[in-house]
Amino acid sequence: MFSKILIANRGEIALRIIRACKQLGIQTVIVYSEADKDSLPVRLADEKVCIGPANASKSYLNHRAIVSAARLTQADAIHPGYGFLSENADFAELVTESGICFIGPTADNIRTMGDKVAAKVQMMTARVPCVPGSDGALPSDDDEVLAIARQVGYPVIIKAASGGGGRGMRVVDKEADLLSAIALTQTEAKANFGSAVVYMEKYLQHPRHIEIQVLSDTHGNAIYLGERDCSMQRRHQKVIEEAPAPGITEQQRQQIGQACVTACQKMQYRGAGTFEFLFEDGEFYFIEMNTRVQVEHTITEMVTGIDIVREQIRIAAGLPLAHSQADVTLQGHAFECRINAENSRTFLPNAGRIDYCHLPAGCGVRVDSHIESGYLVPPAYDSLIAKICVHDQSRAAAIQKMQGVLAEASITGIDTNIELHQRLFTDAGFCDGQMSIHYLSEWIQDNV
Ligand code: ADP
Repeated sequence: MFSKILIANRGEIALRIIRACKQLGIQTVIVYSEADKDSLPVRLADEKVCIGPANASKSYLNHRAIVSAARLTQADAIHPGYGFLSENADFAELVTESGICFIGPTADNIRTMGDKVAAKVQMMTARVPCVPGSDGALPSDDDEVLAIARQVGYPVIIKAASGGGGRGMRVVDKEADLLSAIALTQTEAKANFGSAVVYMEKYLQHPRHIEIQVLSDTHGNAIYLGERDCSMQRRHQKVIEEAPAPGITEQQRQQIGQACVTACQKMQYRGAGTFEFLFEDGEFYFIEMNTRVQVEHTITEMVTGIDIVREQIRIAAGLPLAHSQADVTLQGHAFECRINAENSRTFLPNAGRIDYCHLPAGCGVRVDSHIESGYLVPPAYDSLIAKICVHDQSRAAAIQKMQGVLAEASITGIDTNIELHQRLFTDAGFCDGQMSIHYLSEWIQDNV
């Protein structure tokens, strides 16, 4: 096992990783920007190294500064968390070449999954179901492209191969708009992601977003930890997640879970990962794989009792999985509310000083957060300030628990979206479950 891990991240996930390390008896080093110098994870880590100013490109995204800090402090591994460099293959390569273990998959796996065209090809060979489409990058010949779209059927969606964060996509309803939409998406993709490669998929009209959590070790073992429903999204950003996904049968879960496990084994995947699917009319369609721990891993931990971050560390250290598929059972139901420093009605981000902060607790309540009374939310980073999660025996009981918990939470001095969550947890449509990915934006239009 490692004796010292460097955490190349900030905020709640840095704290989450520190907690896992403490439990495993591993020393921690945190790298931080000047904006985070007084933050809770920086105070709680055993060692800390300032790597630059608030601007992430000069600190949390600075490959060399992070690797130098790891060398200086003699850390034997780096945990990248999520966001920042967590899915950067060049960084993973640099870390490995420096003789330090990267807690995550190989640079090759990260690179393949970061290229959505390559990822889909990989999935199709592993027989993971994909959205019907161009089966690869779009050719340059206009007639060929028109023929592909006719075969797929309108509406179609044009997506950048290296797109991410919900950007670099364009829906096309009819043939007359196709070629100009492709040209526009290519230009944007080149400008934003450095590659003009685009591909085509059938545009699903009322899908749900359902994702499968996997763990895969270096001994050829892989397991799935059930699924999460992340359909409650605004502008492709998840707002509420739940596990398990309402209405998914044990047979559907097993089938898609096993397909993901086979894909992991085929590509010799290492670590925690998530296969994201759109789910419509009883069918799963792969859209992308995230090769890192996800924000919403917490709810899978609540329903399975398996510590995903601890498993990531154990796998990176070369240990076999601590659990077999037979050990994995889903107990009850869990929800996560992403608490953002943003206005509940205008959604404008809102950095600043938190005057007072009380976060809920109790039986089956979990709050992952780095904020505290007096904390200054820096404007430079993502607006996520807390994850409020609940677990109970049924979906209805978990909803009721979340209502109580949200009423107890109090953060003053800055705007938060707690009120939005309070309203959603009493919304009849949401409480019924099985909403599509468009539910929340339509609800906001009608209710906010
Ligand atoms: P990103 O990496 O930018 O998150 P994804 O491929 O995961 O891109 O897609 C993001 C979101 O875009 C999905 O969650 C879904 O809301 C929408 N989307 C993507 N592909 C399709 C599709 N074929 N049909 C309908 N919606 C889609």
